[in-house]
Amino acid sequence: MRRITKTVQGMPATDGAGVKLKRVIGTPALDLIDPFLMLDEFGSDDPDSWIAGFPDHPHRGFETVTIMLEGRVRHGDSVGNKGVIEAGDVQWMTAGRGIIHSEMPERAEGRLRGFQLWLNLPAALKMTPPRYQDTPAARIPEVDVGETRLRVITGEAFGVKGPVESLIPVRLLQARLQAGGALDLPLPAAHNCFGYVYEGEVAADGKTLARGTLAVFEGGDRIALRAGQAGASVLLCDAMPIREPVARYGPFVMNTREELMRAFDDYQRGVLTA
Ligand code: MN
Repeated sequence: MRRITKTVQGMPATDGAGVKLKRVIGTPALDLIDPFLMLDEFGSDDPDSWIAGFPDHPHRGFETVTIMLEGRVRHGDSVGNKGVIEAGDVQWMTAGRGIIHSEMPERAEGRLRGFQLWLNLPAALKMTPPRYQDTPAARIPEVDVGETRLRVITGEAFGVKGPVESLIPVRLLQARLQAGGALDLPLPAAHNCFGYVYEGEVAADGKTLARGTLAVFEGGDRIALRAGQAGASVLLCDAMPIREPVARYGPFVMNTREELMRAFDDYQRGVLTA
């Protein structure tokens, strides 16, 4: 059974054109969990905190995964791709060698809520052609395991395979545990793994993880969770670490400082996506 070697709470951050969010991975307290570079949780009843959105900005060298829980984000990019990501949908974007896009929340019923996860790519794939896998909620399968319902975005759990094809070995699950319900989840011993509690609370490895807590699980081939009396929702991610140098600045994530400077230069010269 894996042990919890670290827990962190997200910290308030502002990004894009002034969007207030909670940054959970990619902070001084938790720089990265290879290959997971960043995890942001966004969500508020107050449209003023997010309506400015993320106007045109570039990316190179990694993938962004947007998981919508509530609300709506309109997306458009430099080569004409566009779409709307709504509650339950997942957008998996491989920035690869370069993309310039905008991500703009829209006023809809209720609140805006979701996650954006940044997933690194190994050197051999950093300059891969950009690709989108826009995955509507209806295409994402769920599997009931005892008192827990698992939504499988990518990778496989209990014989159910997620629809997203990832370039590196990674599994993304959303687990909904009933009140007092348990989950015993096998995972590859070589994978790095974290869980982020976004509703309710869970007990794991003798610790209580409140809403808003991320736990890093190490050293074993399964994790066990048990929900508190209000049930719980947990984002569960595991992946094979890349184990390469990471040079990151803003929207670019490369292996070396020289490659980062090249990315900035390409962007300045208007050839990032060429
Ligand atoms: Mn972006």
